[in-house]
Amino acid sequence: MSDPNATELVLASRNRKKAREMRELIAPLWEPDSRLKSLIIKTLADYPDLPEVEEDAPTFLGNARKKASETAVALNRWVVADDSGLAVDALGGAPGVFSARYAGTHGDDEANNRKLLVDLAGVPDERRGAAFVCALAVSDPTGAIQGEVEARCRGRIIDEPRGDAGFGYDPLFLIPEYHRTFAELGEIVKHQLSHRSRAFQHLRPLLRRLCAEGKL
Ligand code: IMP
Repeated sequence: MSDPNATELVLASRNRKKAREMRELIAPLWEPDSRLKSLIIKTLADYPDLPEVEEDAPTFLGNARKKASETAVALNRWVVADDSGLAVDALGGAPGVFSARYAGTHGDDEANNRKLLVDLAGVPDERRGAAFVCALAVSDPTGAIQGEVEARCRGRIIDEPRGDAGFGYDPLFLIPEYHRTFAELGEIVKHQLSHRSRAFQHLRPLLRRLCAEGKL
């Protein structure tokens, strides 16, 4: 039976693979915390009728705040929203906030990866530096933002996809120290290094405090 005192926390993402990473990073196995573990974690898959939030802010943090706040008000729940993407040095930070729809169709990872390779054709290895960026915002049920963080992970864009794990640009994103892409390194290593794991590391103290204060 579910705990009647447990609080629901909604992760504002419709991207199943991203929501799964977020769920694992709220209360990770390597940092045991009974309070965070007892939260009932929902995602937008649990609320299929909720209208889409338009991601029209010019920054990752702006979009994360907007998604968190609008979703919280619509559901009358605490919400954590992530806005994330890839910023490639040689493309002046593109695709940036347009990462999910770089090639036109929202969430078409293969088309986005193909476009990225075309846009970087002829760019030598040493100029293919990039960063994954993750912004997280926490909203209370009234829509007031109670915390926000942004974190990055540096890497390099290779010239053909490698590996099957992860999602999005993972097969093209090489971690030079490991000579492997995120899609080759897999979930456990990605959870130690990624922009999203670093962002959650910064957010967890706030979530713990909110739990301790009985707000969450
Ligand atoms: P959002 O849902 O608007 O935040 O879109 C994020 C987009 O950025 C995704 O569709 C991916 O293309 C890309 N992205 C964000 N985080 C990651 C990651 O961890 N790995 C690979 N691609 C990512």
